[in-house]
Amino acid sequence: MTLSIRTKKTETPKKRPPDSELSFGKYFTDHMLSVDWSVEQAWHDARLQPYEALALDPAACVLHYGQAMFEGLKAYRQPNGGVALFRPDAHARRMQQGAARLCMPALEEADFVALVREFVKLEDSWIPSSPGTALYLRPTIIATEAFLGVRPSNHYLFFVIASPVGSYYGGDSLKPVRIWVERDHVRAARGGLGATKAGANYAASLLAAVNAKKAGYDQVLWMDAKEHAFVEEVGTMNLFVVIGDKLITPALSDSILSGVTRDSIIKLAPEFGVQVEERAISTAELFEASEKGTLREVFGSGTAAVVSPVAELAFGDRKLEIGGGKPGELALGLYDRISKIQRGLGPDTFGWLSPV
Ligand SMILES: *Cc1c(COP(=O)(O)O)cnc(C)c1O
Repeated sequence: MTLSIRTKKTETPKKRPPDSELSFGKYFTDHMLSVDWSVEQAWHDARLQPYEALALDPAACVLHYGQAMFEGLKAYRQPNGGVALFRPDAHARRMQQGAARLCMPALEEADFVALVREFVKLEDSWIPSSPGTALYLRPTIIATEAFLGVRPSNHYLFFVIASPVGSYYGGDSLKPVRIWVERDHVRAARGGLGATKAGANYAASLLAAVNAKKAGYDQVLWMDAKEHAFVEEVGTMNLFVVIGDKLITPALSDSILSGVTRDSIIKLAPEFGVQVEERAISTAELFEASEKGTLREVFGSGTAAVVSPVAELAFGDRKLEIGGGKPGELALGLYDRISKIQRGLGPDTFGWLSPV
């Protein structure tokens, strides 16, 4: 690591909630990791410090023009009591790619991984061990310069906060979701920010999600912005469909986020005897497969849930039922395989676990 790090521990540790009370992003640990960036000094002053509110100038660029981006990864308790991160290198690289699109600096991969590891070590007592639980890490970069001109900021803050999270599904079985196919609002257009975890993308997604909830659905399926003919992502997850014996996912583009879970699924799929295709999927193809009886599964993939099966797609009044409301065989198999790798309970064929 090229950055040195100083540590100031909290004098008022919080009470850690029992594993049974954990949900997603509700509790935060005692400390945070912060690193400053300036044009003159580049990255400097890496510090582990008590978790606290940020002091920001009200003119800070991030508050006006949304120059901000985040990551999301998890640390898992291992059977020997140790801790491991899942593919932190891939998250570091994705943050670098997104930062370039947003004219922001990003940490070197080795520094990102080393700093996150030091942070996780400090928060060891916060890492839950019940099945399905983990420590969720939220690295974030924000533009902090006090300046109202529209140009990239000359000052940034990189910080990481951590949240012990529970099983996404409560129990062990995967609960399928019902999805509203959004045909008015778009999440991301070609040439836009869709391939980055820019905060702005999530602001753009809220209205459609609120409308879907009102209509009785769990989440939104996003279509391509130009023709509204191709399915792209589901909520904040990548999308997979099983048609016949093929596993199909939209090819990466600048309107699709390059999910680490997506990549893991593509690499593990051959173990399940399915062929993977990365290409455009039209709604017409989904209808046709459904009529022929070959549309076997639809599921989303992401760090929070790993795999989230879809039981229904609503295109306005036209509805597609998938799998009779039960999670598909491949969704279940992939969920089990990936969860076991993460918890140190299955062969880590690709070397994805990074011990802390
Ligand atoms: C984070 C995210 C994903 C999933 O990425 P993972 O690396 O698998 O967690 C997919 N789509 C969007 C829009 C996302 O923000």
